[in-house]
Amino acid sequence: MTGPRHVRVVIIGGGPAGYTAALYTARGALSPVCLEGYDYGGQISRSGDVFNFPGFPGGIAGDELTAKIRQQAIGFGAEVVTADVDFVDLDASPFMVMAAGQTYLADAVILATGATARRLGLPAEEQYEGRGVAYCATCDGPLFADKPVAVVGGGDAAAEEALALAQIASSVTLIHRRHELRANASLRRALKASPVQLLTPYVTTDILGDGNGVTGVRLAHVDDGSVREIAVEGFFVAIGHVPATGLFEPSIALDRHGFVVTAPGTTATNVPGVFAAGDLADPRYRQAGTAAASGCQAAIDAERWLLGHLTDAPLTPEIGEPTHAGR
Ligand code: NAP
Repeated sequence: MTGPRHVRVVIIGGGPAGYTAALYTARGALSPVCLEGYDYGGQISRSGDVFNFPGFPGGIAGDELTAKIRQQAIGFGAEVVTADVDFVDLDASPFMVMAAGQTYLADAVILATGATARRLGLPAEEQYEGRGVAYCATCDGPLFADKPVAVVGGGDAAAEEALALAQIASSVTLIHRRHELRANASLRRALKASPVQLLTPYVTTDILGDGNGVTGVRLAHVDDGSVREIAVEGFFVAIGHVPATGLFEPSIALDRHGFVVTAPGTTATNVPGVFAAGDLADPRYRQAGTAAASGCQAAIDAERWLLGHLTDAPLTPEIGEPTHAGR
């Protein structure tokens, strides 16, 4: 183990947000260290082909996309370390981050650890992921053009996924475990006016398949236990996301779902000098494109904050002063 290293910026997370933040801070001559984790690449690197990331008209494999952004960051001087972060102290000054036995003391930190789609936990879910089981209608909906699909969940995301799929699929069934949806009133109205069929209160007990892909789902009625099966080729799970923010508690303010709260219009967290980019601060969009964009924003926010911080000059609103009072 070597002694602590004092660096300008540490970026925690190796997905589109973290690598883009690394790219921008490297080009800004901040010599960033990006601790990408052992399981780096982010959610997108486990997707198949990505057709909605700008700049790749023929699509690009998700893992190739993140590898390219990573390579671009390294090419401009970012130090990318394949290690999980074990400990952070975001109340210290400078901030302290430990990974693989190395302690980093950082003047600014960018959090970009992402979020993962919550799983139902059924054995067949993993077996058919990418072969009928999906977690994002924007990403995978077009694979199910003119095919019957189901969506599970009762929140805003499930309602939006069902409505989006209704434009593409031959039929959409929305399965929810309660009688009432949790989705907001305008989404409920939109669902009523749409061809989406609502099936409540049912829990999904099995995902059926022929070995190659999904052929249906088995459901149990919550009140009377009766079992039914519906034939679908696509099964979209929209039961929430789990942001990877546990490491940053209690210093960093989180919303009730565990997402990092940022000052509106910026990537500033409640701790001056700590910025958040990508899905861990984004319950709404969660796209590779928006993650990369917020990585860019976090890098610019960090760079401007460091400028003010290191010169002791007061930050001005024009350069994105965090709006929070104190830590
Ligand atoms: P959410 O609001 O937490 O809803 C999750 C839904 O999944 C709930 O209906 C829940 O059921 C159900 N669920 C959870 N675990 C389940 C399981 N194991 N089996 C079956 N069903 C399960 O999550 P979300 O819809 O992803 O939204 C997250 C946040 O983003 C919310 O604050 C939401 O308002 C926001 N959002 C907003 C918009 C928008 O404004 N247009 C769009 C998307 C998301 P119960 O109802 O029984 O708890």
